[in-house]
Amino acid sequence: MKPLEEIFSQLTQPRKIVITMHQKPDADAMGAALGLYHFLFQFGHSVTVISPTNWASWLNWMPGCKNVVDYDMHKEKADAILDETDWLFCLDFNALYRVKNMATKLVSLKCTKILIDHHQQPAENEFDYGISDTNKSSTCEMVYDLIVNSGYADKINETVSECIYAGVVADTGSFRFSSAHAGVHHLVADLKKRGLEHPRVHEELFDNFLENRLRFIGHVLLHRMEVFYEYNTVLIAIPKSDLLKYHIKTGDTEGLVNYPQTIQGIKLVALVIDRDEERKWSFRSKGNFDCNTFARKYFEGGGHFNASGGRSSDSLAETVKKFKQVIKENAELLN
Ligand code: 5GP
Ligand code: MN
Repeated sequence: MKPLEEIFSQLTQPRKIVITMHQKPDADAMGAALGLYHFLFQFGHSVTVISPTNWASWLNWMPGCKNVVDYDMHKEKADAILDETDWLFCLDFNALYRVKNMATKLVSLKCTKILIDHHQQPAENEFDYGISDTNKSSTCEMVYDLIVNSGYADKINETVSECIYAGVVADTGSFRFSSAHAGVHHLVADLKKRGLEHPRVHEELFDNFLENRLRFIGHVLLHRMEVFYEYNTVLIAIPKSDLLKYHIKTGDTEGLVNYPQTIQGIKLVALVIDRDEERKWSFRSKGNFDCNTFARKYFEGGGHFNASGGRSSDSLAETVKKFKQVIKENAELLN
């Protein structure tokens, strides 16, 4: 993988470009893709954003979101666009397998593949150019860096700003994680100087849900949360029946894993949801417990040091049983 800077001199030459991100894109993945889209569009490129799967409806406020192609829904159309593309930007994921049903297609493409990501252990051999930096707060911060470092900061307009800011806010836990380093605050100051109206973005991100989601959270915290004080760990296991009862859609469970972290002394929070095709895990830790290694070792996953995810083909009861076993094995690290 050659350094990202090597594409800077080629930015002004119009091409066909596809931007994609990890499956079930969150605010960082969608914000980075659309921020880059609105930047590249200004050079006269023909740009399409393709998401491997659907996304939370509360992301639809993002400028350009309505034009994003859902690969699962429009495979033929998306494949045709991918076949023609000169450049493929891969944002906020570290290996092509993370785009699920789109992975085989992306692997087969002969176009130039460019990675911009902040997860650990990137599959660098799968990309021609790129940057992978785990010190970055968010992929949105990295898109901002690309724009500024390429010498085109003047192209940061209101739409680019809103998209980038949304991802930075989301991935830094509203600036509370250690990843919100000084450069992140400089970035925000710069976006503000360029006219960003940040209250609007916060409202769109956090005050934009339906009643059922709040009732669901209440139910889950009351009935599905187990606290293991001897391991400083909280587990939430959500059966499919809860998702059906409360009409839970993609994205409605986002942020749920953060609530137990407000309990004094908790080091690890694990959330598992019984989805149709698999049991999907989310892990969050504080301090020196490495969620990335934990997810890789026991739950076929990965991610960041303090936030990771994984999966299991076992039943909910089985995978929960395994979790309870492995926290015992990790007792020393959790104390
Ligand atoms: P979340 O819990 O919000 O789904 O994911 C937390 C972090 O871990 C995100 O940065 C996400 O990209 C990453 N992640 C989630 N699931 C997986 C997985 O199955 N494999 C890998 N490698 N990373 C994951
Ligand atoms: Mn991210």
